[in-house]
Amino acid sequence: MIDGLPPLREVIAKHGLSAQKSLGQNFLLDLNLTAKIARQAGDLSACDVLEIGPGPGGLTRGLLFEGARHVVAIERDARCLPALAEIAAHYPNRLTVLEGDALTLDASSYLTSPVRIVANLPYNVGTELLISWLTPPVWPPIWDSMTLMFQREVAERIVAGPRSKAYGRLSILVQWLTDARIVMSLPPEAFTPTPKVSSAIVHMTRLPQPRYPANPAHLNKTVAAAFNQRRKMVRSSLKGLARDVEDRLAQANIPPTARAEELTLAQFCALSNVMFAD
Ligand code: SAM
Repeated sequence: MIDGLPPLREVIAKHGLSAQKSLGQNFLLDLNLTAKIARQAGDLSACDVLEIGPGPGGLTRGLLFEGARHVVAIERDARCLPALAEIAAHYPNRLTVLEGDALTLDASSYLTSPVRIVANLPYNVGTELLISWLTPPVWPPIWDSMTLMFQREVAERIVAGPRSKAYGRLSILVQWLTDARIVMSLPPEAFTPTPKVSSAIVHMTRLPQPRYPANPAHLNKTVAAAFNQRRKMVRSSLKGLARDVEDRLAQANIPPTARAEELTLAQFCALSNVMFAD
């Protein structure tokens, strides 16, 4: 990818952007790779993109080069702002940079539908951000899809199915609300500095409504209690939630000996509905 801006190594040297571990800074410096990541989000020419943590701007440049209509990027590290201003000047009216913490800053007033979220997330807050995007006050949320980089282990938890070690609360929440798949794997060497672990990109397309009917709070409580003691039978791990757990399991057609990691998403939804019925 040749966009007429200086190579990222020069940008980093010019602006003194030495990576800070506390901010989860592992930068992507290969612009061909960042353009490829941007393409995983689909055709962005009619979309606004919310990017978290643009850093020196590698992925931001990929998104703009690939034609994103408008990118709104939230960056916590003020040292990156001059580098990002140079990108904004190169792509007039297509990049808005907001300085702040993505966990608390509400960017919705800067975004026009349809919105896609694309980010190489800071690992220390990646899961928390994902959960916040999946639990808006009302469904559907402002975003149509999310294309996000995680540590490989987190990506595997997101897409895991029953009877696997990675299957858990995150798998249920994501798969209840989206179609999720791993679309790219990246070795540690793709990043500077090189992290200890591999990474993967998960693309999630939101469903018009949750896959099975369930109350979000009830489903969350049921799944949390079940996976809190994932090797125990659910008839015992769910005892704290309601009376007559065995009768309720029978109502949901779930064998009393089932364990959390054996239950499908459909069974969890059915179970949460009977657990909180009177
Ligand atoms: N997008 C760049 C890339 O791919 O090379 C940088 C990705 S780096 C993994 C994560 C970025 O998120 C860093 O630039 C870091 O400063 C920023 N960051 C960390 N915590 C943040 C937060 N709470 N809100 C917004 N940005 C944050």
